[in-house]
Amino acid sequence: MQKILSTLRLKTMFLQPFVFCSNKCQGCYLKSYKTKHKFNNPRIHLDLLQEIFHTQKDLMVTDQVTISLNSLFKGKYSSSNHQMLRWFAKAIHIIGTSTLDNTPEVHLTFHDIITFSKYTQYIKKHRPNLFNDYINFMKKVTVVSLSSISITDNTFYRRAAQIIDKVNWNWLITPDYKIEDDIEYVREILEVVNSAYMILYKNPLKQEQDSNSIPNYINTYKYLEKNLEPRLLQKINTDRCLFHACDYHKSGFGCSANINLTHIWPNGRPTGCPYNSSGVIKTSVVDYLQTIYLIRGQRNRWEFDKCQLPKLYQEVIKCLN
Ligand code: SF4
Repeated sequence: MQKILSTLRLKTMFLQPFVFCSNKCQGCYLKSYKTKHKFNNPRIHLDLLQEIFHTQKDLMVTDQVTISLNSLFKGKYSSSNHQMLRWFAKAIHIIGTSTLDNTPEVHLTFHDIITFSKYTQYIKKHRPNLFNDYINFMKKVTVVSLSSISITDNTFYRRAAQIIDKVNWNWLITPDYKIEDDIEYVREILEVVNSAYMILYKNPLKQEQDSNSIPNYINTYKYLEKNLEPRLLQKINTDRCLFHACDYHKSGFGCSANINLTHIWPNGRPTGCPYNSSGVIKTSVVDYLQTIYLIRGQRNRWEFDKCQLPKLYQEVIKCLN
């Protein structure tokens, strides 16, 4: 293979190795596409981890890797579950055995704490040989994000809190979400998590956005400002895409999708924006080198120019006044 000359440098790389998670978490910022396509090519995601955590400074470096893992199916021995659990074990081995000095921060995203617990229990019960790798792996994990939180999962939180530095709630605000009906639940969740990322519901990149999505999002935040204790409010981080869309009107620049940020779909294809579902509907790439090659090729393309959010800027202004 011909050596690629300069190192590819990224800030954030999202890895989504399996399509199944899109079936459970519609609208989540990593898993928003329910798809019939089954182009899983999870070997590519492992090879990318190998590249980043073992041969870094050669082909590619990134400051942060976010790995999104989907729920396991009911029925303990389904072949898909085994495929996903084995993938997780291999990722733990790759990351946990890295001896490089400056490896990226690792963020994990799961549907809920029970899913996280099932993955980790699998390692403890069935892969005791990975004990040391698992300890080293967890040292590199700085945030575990959960898309769904039930307060009845409290025991899991207590257990999880012993091994996770920071639990983040990926809180999706749909256009019809009613905070007034939910405020007590939100308060309880904010008591147990370290942070919440309030995600603006978005349609795929080139599609028109629901005109109520931004007004409802901003009104939800205003309601929280009035009704939440400041110590809970300060745990909430607002959607960066909204800021980028607003900044665009002042600076002419939007987000850094493709430039600093890349999302690797289950078929190994990269897109800059995690809402650009064109990545998932194309056929798989051959290997991780092709993924890196495609990321490089896309770097000169500013994906934000297809983003529909700036068109809703007037809605933001109206809501803020
Ligand atoms: S292009 Fe950028 S701002 Fe627009 S949805 Fe994608 S990541 Fe967000």
